[in-house]
Amino acid sequence: MLDSWPRLAASDFPALRRAALATLQLNLGYLCNISCIHCHVDAGPRRTERMDRPTMELALAVAARHRVGTLDLTGGSPEMNPEFRWLVGAARGAGLHVMDRLNPTIIEEPGYEWVAPFLADARVEVVASLPCYSEANVDEQRGDGVFESSIRALRRLNDLGYGDPARGLVLNLIYNPNGAFLPPPQAALEADYVRFLDERFGIRFNRLFTLANMPIKRFGSWLISHGKFEEYVGVLRAAHRDENTADVMCRTLVSVDYRGYLYDCDFNQMLGLPQGGGAAPRHLRDLLAEPLDGAPIAVAGHCYGCTAGQGSSCGGALVMPLPGERQKTVD
Ligand code: SF4
Ligand code: SF4
Repeated sequence: MLDSWPRLAASDFPALRRAALATLQLNLGYLCNISCIHCHVDAGPRRTERMDRPTMELALAVAARHRVGTLDLTGGSPEMNPEFRWLVGAARGAGLHVMDRLNPTIIEEPGYEWVAPFLADARVEVVASLPCYSEANVDEQRGDGVFESSIRALRRLNDLGYGDPARGLVLNLIYNPNGAFLPPPQAALEADYVRFLDERFGIRFNRLFTLANMPIKRFGSWLISHGKFEEYVGVLRAAHRDENTADVMCRTLVSVDYRGYLYDCDFNQMLGLPQGGGAAPRHLRDLLAEPLDGAPIAVAGHCYGCTAGQGSSCGGALVMPLPGERQKTVD
């Protein structure tokens, strides 16, 4: 894989500092049942890294110490960590809101039949990836058969009450572009998803979040090998909006790797860029002693992926697009 970091390290991205911590995002490991072309984690079926229970216990202690409200679980496929159910049970018992970043196909994997009913019983918010409502686009990005499998899995979640406002089980979907272009306006795309998924498959969901592809890891390598890296980063940089820097996720979220080390976001974790960019990596246990409030954030060229256009975060767009704003593309 071609390394995009040397092209991103020197950057004029504005300096940022942290606000109060609201979310602990735990990466439970890089194991995944599929292997997507855009995956910034470089996750897949052969990865073996995973968070152990003592590290999870430490994370819960940090959450209690700093009155963190949300535990955001990601991977890989977080449910493939054997301690997933223990962690969710302990976090819910401690009164935390839990979000699971779900690759819906895991629900159909043999041995993972428990996933959907378990999430519903624990009232976990599900954030499910469905990068397009077109079968061809999804399968091109994620692999053959992934779209059909995802649709069946989303129906299963609906059967359990997800996406039904009366039941209060939240199902949000994630869209990311199938190539080197910015996401289209979130509100308009959400309306298209609602209409198409309902009419075609009878699927309901709460919100659609649009995320920009980051020029790092597998996608960064793809851009370099196709001669599109500089052009794509140029598109991100040209679309930067300063007002988006107030709401980027790294201000209130800290990303934790499977060993307990801290990063300003999941992207920085994958780049090996420690929290604040200092030489000594910080660990969860450091957070038991002192908070991160006001600490500097490690920024570089990829950060324009969060501030371009309508902005992008793990909760989707940051602002609504300007009237008449067009989708920028690299062909
Ligand atoms: S499902 Fe998610 S974690 Fe797994 S390979 Fe695809 S993008 Fe990566
Ligand atoms: S890439 Fe990470 S550090 Fe940079 S702006 Fe986005 S969330 Fe913040």
